[in-house]
Amino acid sequence: MNRKTYQGILADLDGTVNRGSILIPGAAATYKELVRKGIRWVFVSNSATRLSSDLAAKMGALGLEVTANQVVNSAAAVINALRKHFTGKRVMVVGEPRLVEGIEGAGAEITDEPSRTDIVVAAMDTGFTYDKLRRAHIALQNGALFWATNMDASFPASHGFLPGAGSIVASIATASGRPPDRVFGKPSPDMAELALEILNIEAESCLMVGDRIETDIVFAKKAGIDSALVLTGASTKEDLTWSSYQPEYVFESISDIVRLFR
Ligand SMILES: [Mg+2]
Repeated sequence: MNRKTYQGILADLDGTVNRGSILIPGAAATYKELVRKGIRWVFVSNSATRLSSDLAAKMGALGLEVTANQVVNSAAAVINALRKHFTGKRVMVVGEPRLVEGIEGAGAEITDEPSRTDIVVAAMDTGFTYDKLRRAHIALQNGALFWATNMDASFPASHGFLPGAGSIVASIATASGRPPDRVFGKPSPDMAELALEILNIEAESCLMVGDRIETDIVFAKKAGIDSALVLTGASTKEDLTWSSYQPEYVFESISDIVRLFR
């Protein structure tokens, strides 16, 4: 086994650290043990229905003490881009109320008026309607930028999978005949850039741990980060035989990664 000295870990959440409202067995102990060894962690999640602080609070309630600064989701990546490079823009959000609040908190002006929209941000939105689709479509026809938080077709719920942000992004893209100009969630490298900035560690000294090949492992490859696939979530060992993206390690569960830090 390739022995490298990793100083930081990027860990996916659902399917890797938790399954809905249950922690994967051993996840909390693994986190604590590696923190004690001086390893820095950032958690990366494609979800944009809540903000980093909400996800940190959720993890805390499950028994994993993390700060909001240690959680990077696609909402945080959008907010970071708006703060750094798109200040004062007028943004139409097709998304959940917490995402709207976060974007407003980044200094953007929220609008639902297509003719005033500079950027359409499309995300998971349980209140998605034909009217929202129509407004986003007109804004895009008028030349607004089209951003997607992530392209996940579905997400795990208590009884199977439900339609995700990707389904909503696809409907807007189909109407307007344009793919998104920018996608923030894994596998696109935006979240890696932000996570590495927070960790203040080079990509070569990091390990990405995730359960889904087409998001987590591809994301790590694109960012030049070594990766470990865990078999507690979406992808199976068999999926690997068909994948052109191969992780450096395959483990049954996140608790097995401690072997890399001995
Ligand atoms: Mg996952």
